[in-house]
Amino acid sequence: MVRVKSRCWRCGEVSLSLEEIMLVEHGDGEGTFYSFFCSTCGDAQAYPADPRFVDFMRMSGIRPIHLPPPIEYKEAEGNPPLTWDDLLDLHSELEKET
Ligand SMILES: [Zn+2]
Repeated sequence: MVRVKSRCWRCGEVSLSLEEIMLVEHGDGEGTFYSFFCSTCGDAQAYPADPRFVDFMRMSGIRPIHLPPPIEYKEAEGNPPLTWDDLLDLHSELEKET
């Protein structure tokens, strides 16, 4: 059985089977994360997934779960007011895309 090495922030290196890993793709195409529960301490872990790792998971039959973009998700939670920092962030995001 294929096993993948990752890290738990508490326990250090952990070995996972592909079935234990959940791929989460954000709706804005800003990246895919993989998530798992550490088999030792039971904590949920989440890390950005390398595109090659995503391909590998897809080829292994693991389908990513789609979630809404994280920013929208956060906004929907508490509807925080826009701050100057948000505008600056938006500005630099827009600059990145051109
Ligand atoms: Zn752990």
